[in-house]
Amino acid sequence: MKYDVAIIGSGLGGLQCAYILARKGLNVCMLEKNAVVGGCLQTFRRGQSEFDTGFHYVGGLDDGQPLNAIFRYFNLMSLPWHRLDNDAFDEVRIGGQSYFFANGYQHFADTLAAQFPHQRDNLNRYVAMLKRVGDGLKDSFRPRTDTDVFSTSLFTRSAYEFLCETITDPLLRNVVSGTSLKMELSKQTLPLYVFAQINSSFIQSAWRLNGGGQLIADELVNGIRRLGGTVLTNAEVTELVESDGRLSYAALANGEHIEAEWFISDAHPAATLGLIKESTQVRKIYRRRIGSLQNTFGMFTVNIALKSGAVPYLNRNQYVYRTDDVWNLSDYQPEQPIGGILLSYRAAADDKSAANVDILTPMYWPEVERWADTQVGRRGAEYQQFKEQKAQECIALAEEVIPGFGAAIDRQFSSTPLTYMNYTATAQGAAYGIRKDYNNPMLTLLTPRTPVPNLLLTGQNLNLHGILGVSMSSFFTCAEILGMEAATDGLNFDN
Ligand SMILES: Cc1cc2nc3c(=O)[nH]c(=O)nc-3n(C[C@H](O)[C@H](O)[C@H](O)COP(=O)(O)OP(=O)(O)OC[C@H]3O[C@@H](n4cnc5c(N)ncnc54)[C@H](O)[C@@H]3O)c2cc1C
Repeated sequence: MKYDVAIIGSGLGGLQCAYILARKGLNVCMLEKNAVVGGCLQTFRRGQSEFDTGFHYVGGLDDGQPLNAIFRYFNLMSLPWHRLDNDAFDEVRIGGQSYFFANGYQHFADTLAAQFPHQRDNLNRYVAMLKRVGDGLKDSFRPRTDTDVFSTSLFTRSAYEFLCETITDPLLRNVVSGTSLKMELSKQTLPLYVFAQINSSFIQSAWRLNGGGQLIADELVNGIRRLGGTVLTNAEVTELVESDGRLSYAALANGEHIEAEWFISDAHPAATLGLIKESTQVRKIYRRRIGSLQNTFGMFTVNIALKSGAVPYLNRNQYVYRTDDVWNLSDYQPEQPIGGILLSYRAAADDKSAANVDILTPMYWPEVERWADTQVGRRGAEYQQFKEQKAQECIALAEEVIPGFGAAIDRQFSSTPLTYMNYTATAQGAAYGIRKDYNNPMLTLLTPRTPVPNLLLTGQNLNLHGILGVSMSSFFTCAEILGMEAATDGLNFDN
């Protein structure tokens, strides 16, 4: 059987593309190498406990906000979303002092202005900028407008320089950047658009999903199947085979061939090109270009099951820093101690205490590269020791906000960029895919098109990472097949 579209990888981007295309009546086939769908949305179980791997929270789900419209389109608003504290959805702790992020642009500015009264005007200018970027998001889905041009130009501006120009107090500059383990805060590369769009979305409103990111993936699979699509797991694509200048089929590890008119890859672009062994379309120069792109840092995660009732549930995230310059976290230095962590809580059945806490911190490829050729579960004692030491550093830093935390731990599990590399095939286990660089947006911002006319890319390696960014790219990728109007048919930002 020949499908209209075969999609490689069931991360959020792959699943959303399959859903959009199936909604327009195309016959789609989703191919996922793992036994479980979702990529970075996956949750995993250990005994009674369930943990998130990547995704932990999203922004902009209130009525009238951009992600709400996008999730309504995918029927994801019916999931058990839980709003974080309006007055303090995130807490940033720098130098032993806490600062709180409130929802709503003005509320956000007013809350921080209480601790930084001399910066009130600057905070107002800061949120005015974020609001403009957030409001402009929906215009990306329409023919080019002034706002769109404004957004595009923000890819060529430095996020750090914007902050230095806007906020004169260096501590406040760090505070407003302090929830940004959600992106790679690099003074040298981070485009203003990435910084502003992501921060803007969370300031609009911030939400956890009771039950974790797997629910998103499973609901999308249900939707794809309802719309007549096919979803295959344990279906690793080992080769994309070209004939007469177009891809003709995807060869699977089990020997099957999946034929299609179009192919969309949600896998990392370098991994995608690795699947095309022979091609008349993909020149060496394109392979070199993709191969030379830098990736963001990876993530070290400690998933912790707590003793019953030992830690109260906190309806916000906590970012705790050892460093006083949060923008230094993305600069790898050998043997450096952990500079900052994100703590995310999952409520127990009583809703008052925490069942689990996940701790996330950046981890750099050179730290784990020496084990790159080892297999999951067989990486050796030295790797276990390395993980244990990193986990202890994270737990020690967490003690600053949860006194006695170490004694409250029942069991803990940890993962490194190698784990992500193994499960999602992302180069170097990069948490947020290809690094976007404001110095070189033409090179580092990929479009869905590739030199092979019927192969498209999607997912976090294109414009913007994260749930919002990947969702945007899914529509842009499908627009290459359907046209923008048809791809966004049913996507309504106006109510
Ligand atoms: C630790 C961490 C925390 C995060 N926290 C948040 C958060 O709180 N909020 C937020 O908005 N974003 C967060 N993100 C980012 C967000 O999760 C990702 O941007 C998004 O989920 C990426 O989706 P994707 O579709 O691009 O790709 P991925 O999730 O990487 O999926 C790619 C899929 O392709 C499959 N695949 C690869 N090669 C093949 C092959 N040859 N054959 C078949 N299948 C293949 C993989 O198995 C995988 O399922 C986080 C990311 C990480 C890593």
